[in-house]
Amino acid sequence: MTAVQHITVLGATGSIGLSTLDVIARHPDRYQVFALTGFSRIAELEALCVKHKPRYAVVPDAVVAHQLQVSLRAAGLVTEVLHGAQSLCEVAAHADVDVVMAAIVGAAGLPPTLAAAEAGKKVLLANKEALVMSGALFMQAVKRGGAVLLPIDSEHNAIFQCLPGDYARGLQQVGVRRVLLTASGGPFREMPLDQLHAVTPEQACAHPNWSMGRKISVDSASMMNKGLELIEACWLFDASPAQIEVVVHPQSVIHSLVDYVDGSVLAQLGNPDMRTPISHALAWPERIDSGVAPLDLFAIARLDFQVPDEQRFPCLRLAREAAQAGGTAPAMLNAANEVAVAAFLERRIRFPEIASIIEHVLQAEPAVALECLDTVLVADGQARNLAERWLAQR
Ligand code: NDP
Ligand code: MG
Repeated sequence: MTAVQHITVLGATGSIGLSTLDVIARHPDRYQVFALTGFSRIAELEALCVKHKPRYAVVPDAVVAHQLQVSLRAAGLVTEVLHGAQSLCEVAAHADVDVVMAAIVGAAGLPPTLAAAEAGKKVLLANKEALVMSGALFMQAVKRGGAVLLPIDSEHNAIFQCLPGDYARGLQQVGVRRVLLTASGGPFREMPLDQLHAVTPEQACAHPNWSMGRKISVDSASMMNKGLELIEACWLFDASPAQIEVVVHPQSVIHSLVDYVDGSVLAQLGNPDMRTPISHALAWPERIDSGVAPLDLFAIARLDFQVPDEQRFPCLRLAREAAQAGGTAPAMLNAANEVAVAAFLERRIRFPEIASIIEHVLQAEPAVALECLDTVLVADGQARNLAERWLAQR
């Protein structure tokens, strides 16, 4: 019998956070919640605290913290409510924590995810933006801290499952020819190109296969999500962009594949439900029940594959170029994308302008070498300023 694992869920109120807590609740003998964090959905965070009884809850500011503390005391809970970005790092790196689910969306998730890595935790990485921004620095922190980094992104979790245990020796050394990264193509895969300028945030967030937070849903519609995932895969598996091929697979049943030199191609399949990769990473190297229904191949009947269309999805090209440029280019790509997606969700720009903003930012500011976390944060800030200026002058 393994000892109970204490878990911090960063971004507990989000889509990945809730799926994680669903899996945890199925295995009270294995997992106990140590800390939960939320940002704007405080009523939901309160309900999660009542259900999971964490030692700590973290919210953005002191006023909200006080209100939540009063409510939780009235409910008879001993949960201590903390606030601010530093508290996120503290509950991620706390000595009593075994596992950290990194599920805050965007750049805000970088400091606590890095703190978990430095503190040598088992880090379950959903927050791909953190790795995209800081690349080599993040992987060095994992090594330095002795952390175990497991991918939650379904594609990367699939690739991890299809690779041999000693893949860190190098993909070529273990006989890998290519990694095939699957993409659903999102809701606009077949929409006539001249209609893309009129799509709404609601249409962009209505993903055909996956239920996700709004930012990643827009990223999936623009295929920036696949671009970020390409960069994420390069760091996780020490691959070059040329070793990774994006394959559009509209059914989202095959979550990615690994092509070996002998012609064997290994794939991981499953229903599109994030509880599968979450359960896999939580229990690794064991397996636990996730609550996901068995895959019914007869109901699926067919699997399709297409070449990605970079004219329709310029974000994919921009991400590949940023991956090849290296240094601060991926951090700038990510920051410009975050500003652009927020502006699209606020109906300030049209969908195709997301790519225009990112292209403008990447051309306006040359990438520099990634020396330290400050270099990343400066590049992130510069890209955000350039993107905001583009929006203001529009
Ligand atoms: P959601 O938008 O559903 O959740 C985001 C979480 O982050 C929420 O708990 C939110 O709090 C919190 N949050 C937002 N902004 C801040 C901030 N500034 N500081 C602290 N916390 C903040 O997103 P998802 O769960 O869909 O995605 C989370 C991450 O996982 C993303 O990086 C995404 O790319 C990745 N991912 C998601 C997948 C999915 O299927 N959903 C699949 C693969 C990767 P609140 O809700 O209280 O405002
Ligand atoms: Mg994914």
